[in-house]
Amino acid sequence: MEDWKFYMPTKIRFGWGRFQEIRQVVDELKGKKIFLVTSKHFAKKYGILDKLSDFLKGLTLVVFAEVEENPTIETVDRGASQCKLNQCDLVIGLGGGSALDAGKAMAMLQRNPGSIREYLDQERTCQVKGLPYAAIPTTSGTGSEVTPFTVITHPTKKAKPAIAPPENFPDIALVDPELTLSMPFEVTASTGLDALCQAVEGFWSTQGNPLTRSLAFQGIKLAMENLESACVKKDRESVINMALASHLTGIEMSNIGNTSIHPLSYPITIDYGVAHGFACAIFLPAVVRFNARLIESQFRDLLRVLNLSNIEAFADKVDSFMEKLRAPRRLSKLGVKQEDIPGIAKRGVGRSTAWNPRPMTEEDIIQICKTIL
Ligand code: NAD
Repeated sequence: MEDWKFYMPTKIRFGWGRFQEIRQVVDELKGKKIFLVTSKHFAKKYGILDKLSDFLKGLTLVVFAEVEENPTIETVDRGASQCKLNQCDLVIGLGGGSALDAGKAMAMLQRNPGSIREYLDQERTCQVKGLPYAAIPTTSGTGSEVTPFTVITHPTKKAKPAIAPPENFPDIALVDPELTLSMPFEVTASTGLDALCQAVEGFWSTQGNPLTRSLAFQGIKLAMENLESACVKKDRESVINMALASHLTGIEMSNIGNTSIHPLSYPITIDYGVAHGFACAIFLPAVVRFNARLIESQFRDLLRVLNLSNIEAFADKVDSFMEKLRAPRRLSKLGVKQEDIPGIAKRGVGRSTAWNPRPMTEEDIIQICKTIL
């Protein structure tokens, strides 16, 4: 593709120990009264919140530590009201994709009226940029710190819709891989597999361009070479490389979205309570095989770098990789029954399914699900 465009307004600071630059970030965004959005328990438990308070001494810090995994409309609206009530002038999201997305939505709602539900249901659209927003990831998976995507769970619809107005790109992404060290094995594995899925989807997407494909290529390579070590050894090099894999795929995805795998994950997360990355990855080997014929030549360089002979070997490698990471590989193990599959297929089709290299129908999804039941 020779004709393409790319947009990335987020300023990036990436590096081990850079969390201590938070005061500079706040000053750059002219924050005086800060609304901190983070996950339940974790920031307090690991002492990150204490460090943050220390770095921001002299400024007012209002803490909203109530974000659950896959944040809901109710949580976002509650946080947005508290931010307004406290008249904060800057929002910081600190945590995994759940906290970062919730923070994005809360910042947006400071200058756009109504509930986040109205935006998710397309009754309103974002008209103006929200409060300045700094995103600090503590997982290596979603890349949400560099995307406009704001994924919020809609309980009455049993869905995870997203909005992505360009105004929702964070102003600053502060990526300090050291913050991810406290992730337990399972969270490192699940979030890292999310990064791998994003990278693979970005690499084969029909929406791709030379820049997104370069980022996705690096993302796949980094994740395949470093995730196991980041889970088991937690050595500095692999931890940094996983933060980079997540970050690069976030930049790539910010412009072209995903393809067929991410929408399939949503019913699995909502109905069976499966972590986002695991819910994506369970489909990865089967969708690689489904796409095989159409991606073989595109994957040639990647296969060579990974020392693999063909696409089937890539799918096998991902499969054995998932086994080592103790990721679920059969839908039945999650509680999915044969009779649930048509419903999953119906709700697992999203806008981005159309960007899969091989057209994918509901019937195809049913067949894919049967192979991994
Ligand atoms: P998460 O944010 O839900 O976090 C998973 C768990 O890990 C939580 O319990 C959290 O408290 C904990 N945790 C986070 N960091 C930790 C750390 N350093 N140490 C110990 N525990 C830690 O998981 P996630 O996979 O990062 O985010 C998933 C969410 O992001 C989903 O809602 C998904 O749809 C969304 N998402 C958003 C984008 C985007 O671009 N906006 C992209 C992909 C996914």
